[in-house]
Amino acid sequence: MMDIKVLKPILGANDQRAQENRSLLEKNRIVAVNFTASPGAGKTSLLLATIKALRDEFRIGVVEGDVSSAIDAETVAKEGIPVVQINTGGACHLDATMISNALESLPTEDLDVLLIENVGNLICPASFALGEHRNVLVASVPEGHDKPHKYPVMFSKSDAVVLNKIDLKPYIDFDQDKFTAAVQGLREKALIFPVSCKTGEGIDHWASWLRDQIRVEQSN
Ligand code: MG
Ligand code: ZN
Repeated sequence: MMDIKVLKPILGANDQRAQENRSLLEKNRIVAVNFTASPGAGKTSLLLATIKALRDEFRIGVVEGDVSSAIDAETVAKEGIPVVQINTGGACHLDATMISNALESLPTEDLDVLLIENVGNLICPASFALGEHRNVLVASVPEGHDKPHKYPVMFSKSDAVVLNKIDLKPYIDFDQDKFTAAVQGLREKALIFPVSCKTGEGIDHWASWLRDQIRVEQSN
């Protein structure tokens, strides 16, 4: 008899762990969203605004990734939301093993949504799958409209781009049309949500997109 070899894609260790995370999330019917950004773009502020918008409909948990400190996790915990802080001890990204450990410390049976705040960095998080269902990139007006050209991989991997701090547009030379064209040049159908976490402008629109994504995943 002929020996037929079946070739399967060989997954790296991180991808394999990410798949295990994904299975665990789906077993518990949790939809996970990974937020990436440069430091200071306003990931934590966006998380807080998102929690406020969706907490009546979904049970939300948070993973905070930072190189050090628990400042962001403390801010989230004040909202009464289950949160785990991961200190990467210098590493500039979260990996699937860190998320796996975090899931052990979260009440997974009692969650519908997991919001993951990645370490502030737009380079290597692109190479580390976590098991997430959606990727959201948070950019901000002061970073300039050429940001997508500088970090093309992360932009091209993101399902949505939240453009934060639009309240600063009158004071900053930021061309939103150029920004939009740059994003869509990398990912044709990328959705862009201009928001201000400070004034609340645009948060409804962003939250309604996220709500729809969560519902789509829940019905799968
Ligand atoms: Mg933060
Ligand atoms: Zn890194």
